[in-house]
Amino acid sequence: MSQKLADDCIFCKIIRGEIPSCKVIETDLSYAFMDIQPLSEGHTLIIPKYHAQFAHEVPDEYLADMLPLAKKVALAIGAKNYNILQNNGSLAHQVVPHVHFHVIPKPNEAEGLGIRWPAKSPSIDEVKKSSEAIIQKL
Ligand code: 5GP
Ligand code: ZN
Repeated sequence: MSQKLADDCIFCKIIRGEIPSCKVIETDLSYAFMDIQPLSEGHTLIIPKYHAQFAHEVPDEYLADMLPLAKKVALAIGAKNYNILQNNGSLAHQVVPHVHFHVIPKPNEAEGLGIRWPAKSPSIDEVKKSSEAIIQKL
């Protein structure tokens, strides 16, 4: 599987070793390293060795490689509570435009990921309509 990396991307530079990083594990398709500004101790990033901003742009074999790595890293961190997070687009809090999964231990209320969860209360008909719109395009 050939890598597709970008010249000017900070995470592609990390994969190429042009920018230093604290690597924890890598495979032919993925690279895992410590987040430089962790939300909690152990905060790790898993990235594909394929440059793309959005998850839906990443070939399946890279996606299939990353989640088992995230599991392995989560087990190695040993946190009882943790979040696996993957942001797509700046409105969705993506800062680095190269797909990455965060593994973020949640040791207590104050550290780790804080989430705002503005839940709506649609009718069951509205929920069903949403599902039908998605199903039509699958
Ligand atoms: P995002 O908000 O895009 O999902 O998260 C980007 C993450 O990358 C942030 O948690 C940030 O701390 C981390 N990050 C940004 N630049 C670097 C870097 O040069 N090295 C490392 N190790 N992490 C970085
Ligand atoms: Zn990149």
